Amino acid sequence: MAKPDLQPARGTHDLIGEEFRRHHHVIDTARRISALYGFEEWATPIFEDTRVFARTLGETSDVVTKEMYTFEDRGGESVTLRPEGTAGACRALVTNGLTQTNLPRKVFYAGPMFRYERPQKGRYRQFHQIGCEVMGAAEPLADAEVIACGWHIQQALGIDQGAVLEINTLGDGPSREAYRAALVAYFQASADRLSEESRTRLEKNPLRILDSKDAGDKALVADAPTIEAHLTEAASAFYAGVKRALDRFGVPYRENPRIVRGLDYYSHTAFEFVTDRLGAQGTVMAGGRYDGLVEEMGGPPTPSVGWAAGVERLSMLLEAAPAAPRPVAVIPVGEAAEAAALDAVQSLRRAGVVAEVGYKGNLKRRMERANRLGARAAVIIGDEELAEGVAQLRDLDAGTQERVPLAELAARLI
Ligand code: ATP
Ligand code: MG
Repeated sequence: MAKPDLQPARGTHDLIGEEFRRHHHVIDTARRISALYGFEEWATPIFEDTRVFARTLGETSDVVTKEMYTFEDRGGESVTLRPEGTAGACRALVTNGLTQTNLPRKVFYAGPMFRYERPQKGRYRQFHQIGCEVMGAAEPLADAEVIACGWHIQQALGIDQGAVLEINTLGDGPSREAYRAALVAYFQASADRLSEESRTRLEKNPLRILDSKDAGDKALVADAPTIEAHLTEAASAFYAGVKRALDRFGVPYRENPRIVRGLDYYSHTAFEFVTDRLGAQGTVMAGGRYDGLVEEMGGPPTPSVGWAAGVERLSMLLEAAPAAPRPVAVIPVGEAAEAAALDAVQSLRRAGVVAEVGYKGNLKRRMERANRLGARAAVIIGDEELAEGVAQLRDLDAGTQERVPLAELAARLI
């Protein structure tokens, strides 16, 4: 067959069969576990006013400078396909008037995100994220709880063995200012060895250099000063509180002073779950504290913390894809049995049994189809069975067969 000239757009992929089941399992598990922690699910729009992102993700972040899908709609409004979920959640908190009541709000979300990236394994232009946000909580316990929930989800998915939690603190405003000065001094001394991009960052946001993927930058970053010496007492105490609660929750972690996160809105806690099983795309879940974001959206000060995880990356780490459901195939033999077969298949479905009836074909063709579907059992109804109100129930794994009254089929197959 010739290759059709219409292909999926670059960096997008279809979710079909096993891949869909992996994907669905990840989201379903995250939904179930986050609910145990009191997160309620929100769904916010897939596109937003461009300012929702441009204002908040930071003018020097990769996402804003290079990756956004931004366009003018027919009415001349600038809209952007959401590159991440946190900004939309904060916007929703504000525009729905939820900033004063019932805080903290604990929100879970799942859905597609869009970034104009160079596609490669684990990196797409349309990908999916799950995420948890605690909005309106200034306590380190919120940071620890949100992280514990993310860890719990990975455990429930059976992928926690290969993933390591790395945490860091970005301190409070004064800590970061002092650290920023130290970083500028350090990098300025070897500015000629920095990549061009990082030289720009040096002026606009030197912290961002720590997150650079450029090999030359990385070599310099290795010896860069860490924030520790510049933390205020309050920031140190906060960080200690997060670690204490993580210990209490039984979440193992490793401190990594290089973690700064790709978006500009973070303060205090920053963390990533990383694995060496996905090549270059090793971060599966990432997040931190974003105390100023709701204010940027026009709301009151609302300290918040959260994470997002890539569903595709989590899916790739799953040991095995969840099995497809194995149907029961109902097979009429002869015209007279057709109607009874429809009754039978429908009462099986009503009883919660996955059941199929072929649209046409003789016994042989229908048995072939049942095997292709991976059916676990066949319910065969011919003239003789019809007359007696029974069916032949064939166990397709064991190869055994027995006569079962039609009325008892569902109970036998549940
Ligand atoms: P990276 O450093 O890999 O570019 P990031 O810092 O841009 O990641 P975040 O914005 O923190 O990523 O998004 C959280 C998670 O979403 C990532 O850890 C990853 O699992 C997933 N993710 C981000 N971008 C993509 C993408 N283009 N394709 C697939 N998954 C992605
Ligand atoms: Mg990125």
